[in-house]
Amino acid sequence: MTSKTTVKTLLILGASGDLTGRLLLPGLAGLLASGRAPGLRLVGAGSDPWSPEQWQDRVNTAFAAASNASEATGRADLAAVASTTEYHQVDVTADGPLAELLSRLEGPVAIYFALPPHVSQKACEVLHRDQLPPGTRLVMEKPFGSGTESAHELNKTLAALVPEDRIHRVDHFLGKATVLNILGLRFANTFLEPVWNRDHIEKVEVIFDEDLALEGRARYYDTAGALRDMVQSHLLHIMAFLAVDAPATVEERDLRDAVATVLRASSIKAPYAHSTRRARYTAGTLGERTVPDYVAEEGVDPSRNTETLAEVRVEIDNWRWKGVPFILRSGKAMGRRRKEAVITFRPVPHLPKGFSGVDSPNQLRIGFGPDVLELDVDVNGPGDIFSLDRASLVAQLNAAGMLPYGEVLEGILNGDPLLSVRGDTAEDCWRIIEPVLRAWESGDVPLEEYDAGTAGPAGWPTAVVD
Ligand code: NDP
Repeated sequence: MTSKTTVKTLLILGASGDLTGRLLLPGLAGLLASGRAPGLRLVGAGSDPWSPEQWQDRVNTAFAAASNASEATGRADLAAVASTTEYHQVDVTADGPLAELLSRLEGPVAIYFALPPHVSQKACEVLHRDQLPPGTRLVMEKPFGSGTESAHELNKTLAALVPEDRIHRVDHFLGKATVLNILGLRFANTFLEPVWNRDHIEKVEVIFDEDLALEGRARYYDTAGALRDMVQSHLLHIMAFLAVDAPATVEERDLRDAVATVLRASSIKAPYAHSTRRARYTAGTLGERTVPDYVAEEGVDPSRNTETLAEVRVEIDNWRWKGVPFILRSGKAMGRRRKEAVITFRPVPHLPKGFSGVDSPNQLRIGFGPDVLELDVDVNGPGDIFSLDRASLVAQLNAAGMLPYGEVLEGILNGDPLLSVRGDTAEDCWRIIEPVLRAWESGDVPLEEYDAGTAGPAGWPTAVVD
């Protein structure tokens, strides 16, 4: 049973960090502005000797845009949080200081570990269950562990502190309205379900290509790469939403069970030179900007052979999907920004003689930014009435709403882990990816190159399919 208690204090560890400034505080601002987090107290902590004013400045800066837009209640909530927030200098890896800080906070507390992963792990190891205020929730960022075994060990450490339903493993893609829309699209419309299977679908692609390069994030990115950073977490979850059977409810237990069932049936099959590809960008141009070779970027260690473009073919071994490739791809410094799922249907079994003009199968595209739904269909065109033309049925998805981190925080503060990754699923995502990481490390799959600003190495983006 999920214990739904409202969090009184949000404690952000890593208050001076990039995630806090760029994503967490703006997400929180949107949530407060909507009036959906009344009475919250915000406490920041970190190893920096910040003055209270420095932290308050950071909070005010992040809250400024939201306070212009919000209603009176939201503005009052933003002002209350900004004026009462505190900052504490704490080494979270030392035995004692974090527990001491927790003892002074009004519970229930949500502890947000916006820290480097190894620091979060150590901080959890030095905490004890009896040091946590009743109802404490632990919020862990990605990457959750560095492989199946370390994720399992981290799960054990967390389980010694609080029950599973009070652990929130953040994947902020689960807070994106268009990702959640996949479920509404699939389960609230009768026309899709009969064709949503191996009999009618040829392949499914989930593509997240960015037209941005490293943007000064070498310290993190160079140790992660595209496969760990995007595919291992975000794209596998989008794939799971596209592939799940209808859950009994869209509540936490049923939906997360359904997602876990799909991921347990999923794997990437060897030989990996056939089912995966990796590449790294070299110098090129992105719009007006010149981008240097990835290996020439500050902070990059060329000996790590980090990929900036990864593509894998996942197979889901169940009745619905056996034999249908799910191709997941993400790249940096690509010529075209593309964030979408593309469902390609099988060709019609027979086209009556006399029709002409059909040369590609129907496709459904679910765009994650711009948020759009597009179905390509063939229809009688003008002129020769049996010469078919390709037309697109386009629906703009009105997904404007809270930032993904706002949605995720709302779940955390209200004690609902629906939009968090469950422990077994976090391990399963590593189980799927780990053999590929090993094969890539041992050089089984060549690291190709592509010029920044292009569509990838020659031959890409044609998907890896038999
Ligand atoms: P940063 O390196 O920018 O920030 C880390 C923070 O942790 C700093 O405030 C740092 O303080 C603090 N810190 C480090 N050691 C200690 C310690 N012993 N005690 C207390 N505080 C400490 O990292 P990010 O903000 O980029 O990332 C944080 C987490 O979020 C990571 O797990 C990352 O993978 C994840 N993430 C980040 C995203 C992003 O866009 N940045 C996106 C998605 C996930 P100090 O500077 O004083 O050392």
